[in-house]
Amino acid sequence: MSARESHKTTGFVLRSFSYGESDLIVTFYSNDFGKLKGIAKGAKRSKKRFANVFEPFSLTNIIFTRKSRDMLAFIESCEIIDHYDAVRRDLGKTLIASYFIDLTDHFSPEGKKNDKIFELLQTFLTLLGTEKASDAVVRFFEMRLLKLAGFEPALDHCIMCKTPVTNGLAYYFYATEGGIKCADCAKPQRYDQSISAGTVRTLLLGKDMDIDKIKLIALSDSLAKESRNILVGFISHVLSHEVKSLKVMEQVQKLCL
Ligand SMILES: [Zn+2]
Repeated sequence: MSARESHKTTGFVLRSFSYGESDLIVTFYSNDFGKLKGIAKGAKRSKKRFANVFEPFSLTNIIFTRKSRDMLAFIESCEIIDHYDAVRRDLGKTLIASYFIDLTDHFSPEGKKNDKIFELLQTFLTLLGTEKASDAVVRFFEMRLLKLAGFEPALDHCIMCKTPVTNGLAYYFYATEGGIKCADCAKPQRYDQSISAGTVRTLLLGKDMDIDKIKLIALSDSLAKESRNILVGFISHVLSHEVKSLKVMEQVQKLCL
């Protein structure tokens, strides 16, 4: 039997499920190893050793061993760095954080490190804890994650004639082609919904905007609707399925707000 190597890293809890009577299988998004799956032996019994650390979006310090990269890690210890209590006290924010975590999970292949995605999660969870939850926060997270995961939609020009986005013109988004077309190139059908240059520009701005400025952005109803349709449609297309936590988040928002 080969010896297990011991590692130390920092990671967000993406999800966990019970395994047998007392164990948990936990998936993290870690700084040094990307998505990491491990078993926490006795986690359901040993409250002292793993006190509530395995809740979704908790940021933790993890010590684990494993025989090789493609094998399940043994979680030796796991301690909370940030539990994001301010987020957890607010149902709306908790659902947004759960959506961020879910998206990160969907867009991250196991074992592929991406410190920019780790940083993005950390920045946006901190932002959620301190600022008001808004449509802009959700949409800008989606834009940034898509970019970092290599799926950035083309929104700065028409994908057919390459003309840059011009104020006042209407555009059409094609998820299957990953970008926008101007009205001339799109030849829209009657049921096609146009999007304004303002929506496209706001999303482009939100992709790189200073994090401190996001709190100042309030999307108008039409802008919020258009940008949601673009990004959620595109994400569902890339993943080939809808994201469940988004549905839950939106249903609760409809009921509560
Ligand atoms: Zn065009």
